[in-house]
Amino acid sequence: MADPGFQLLIAGERVDGEAGAYDIVNPATETVVGQAPEASVAQVEAAAAAAADAFPAWSRTKPEERAALLNKAADLLRDRMDELIPLVQAETGATLRLTQTMQVPTCIERFRRYAKGALEPTTIPLPPSEMPTTTLAPGGLMGAMVLRQPVGVVACITPYNFPIVNMAGKIGPALAMGNTVVVKPAPQDPLAVTVFGEILHEAGFPAGVVNVVTGSSAEAGQALVASDHVDMVSFTGSTPVGQAIGEVAGRGMKRLLLELGGKGAGIVFDDADLKTAIGTISSVWAFHAGQICTAPTRVIVQRGVYDQVVVGLHAATGRLKVGDPLEKDTVVGPLISEVQRGRVEALIQAGIEQGGELVAGGQRPEMATGFYVAPTLIAGCKPDNAAVMQEFFGPVVVVVPFDDEDEAVAIANSTEFGLYDYVFSGDTSKALRVAKQLRTGNVGLNTAQRNHEAPFGGFKMSGVGRDGGSFGLHAYSELQSIVWPG
Ligand code: NAP
Ligand code: MG
Repeated sequence: MADPGFQLLIAGERVDGEAGAYDIVNPATETVVGQAPEASVAQVEAAAAAAADAFPAWSRTKPEERAALLNKAADLLRDRMDELIPLVQAETGATLRLTQTMQVPTCIERFRRYAKGALEPTTIPLPPSEMPTTTLAPGGLMGAMVLRQPVGVVACITPYNFPIVNMAGKIGPALAMGNTVVVKPAPQDPLAVTVFGEILHEAGFPAGVVNVVTGSSAEAGQALVASDHVDMVSFTGSTPVGQAIGEVAGRGMKRLLLELGGKGAGIVFDDADLKTAIGTISSVWAFHAGQICTAPTRVIVQRGVYDQVVVGLHAATGRLKVGDPLEKDTVVGPLISEVQRGRVEALIQAGIEQGGELVAGGQRPEMATGFYVAPTLIAGCKPDNAAVMQEFFGPVVVVVPFDDEDEAVAIANSTEFGLYDYVFSGDTSKALRVAKQLRTGNVGLNTAQRNHEAPFGGFKMSGVGRDGGSFGLHAYSELQSIVWPG
């Protein structure tokens, strides 16, 4: 039986999984952290049905009421930070520092942001039409208004890297807009999401408005996406799973928000501040062992500074402490699982076999336990090397040289992804000119800082739709136009 703290939330009831429970493993110690409930397909369907039942009343609640509940949930999250931090740390293997600064507090910020979001206008002004009105109702101007309406039941399906932060980024705006949700976290680390469900329950969201289902196999997610009760799927995860979800969702005409894979280009020009460029790129290794979709993992360097950048990145790897995520000075912790480590190692091998030069890392660090990969640098890659084209989701940086601006843009645009790229140059107009040619949803100029009000999402195979600020709120709405004789 699952730990009573880790239960499903269905129709306002906290319940065990009908299919039992399964072990969650700490990626650093390889010991069991807790047991997560294994939802049956019938429970997934019951959760979707509960969300559908709750939708009409919830969609008519006052925005102030939704804002108050989101703020209340943020308060309760804050009160339980001390409990959530060790739990999230243990199930993700993230360093304690990353957990304390980002894995948990960011949830609170997201809920506060979307508590304000609930109060944003949902009526859009419309200019008078210059075209004649239709022949069906000739004569006269038409009055008109456009409303943002909630979509209905939103299935929120998330990846393992930031379990509760990813979840908060979906349910915050979805609930603020007046939708109801069924949440399905990643199988590797769902425990804190179940606690999150408990917190939302305590905050007083009406029964069925928020439902949480977990499970070890793809069955739960598949059943959720296929459910006739689900009107929208908000998914963050890999591109192949996004494609599979899109196919099923298409049949039911479900709305989609897909935040998928990335292979961020970091273009470094001869005139760049190399300290900034190298420091920013090195954050790939430091940031959750590279398990982040937006990182500049594919470094494209102009030949004039190529050697300096490779030497600088190599030196940076020597300064990164790999080790126990609980130790204060640890920078690089383990990957989420043995499976993920195997994927990363296989792609490193392919990169070397295809002509990449292994400059640093490439092996497992000497640790008694844990799914570690040493920070790895592969230089001198051809643009079509598999290690350049495919996503690692691990602590690996690849380097490709270029000669001129056009070549840099061509290489940057040559993967199937288009999520987040970076341009490092001392010439602002050149940096902007290059940014505009990148087929990517987001570009950082000489920085990896984000503006969280900016739309966030992918071009090409990196996804459909946008999160972030008010854009994220609007992603969970349908436009309705209402006209009348003026
Ligand atoms: P994943 O394997 O795609 O899984 C993501 C979620 O989808 C999990 O909850 C998974 O659970 C579920 N799932 C798998 N197959 C499904 C199906 N057929 N129908 C419904 N749900 C299904 O991704 P991951 O390995 O957890 O995370 C790494 C990936 O996420 C990387 O590709 C990374 O780039 C991407 N990512 C993107 C962003 C972004 O904002 N663009 C942010 C973070 C991560 P089950 O496997 O149990 O079904
Ligand atoms: Mg998976």
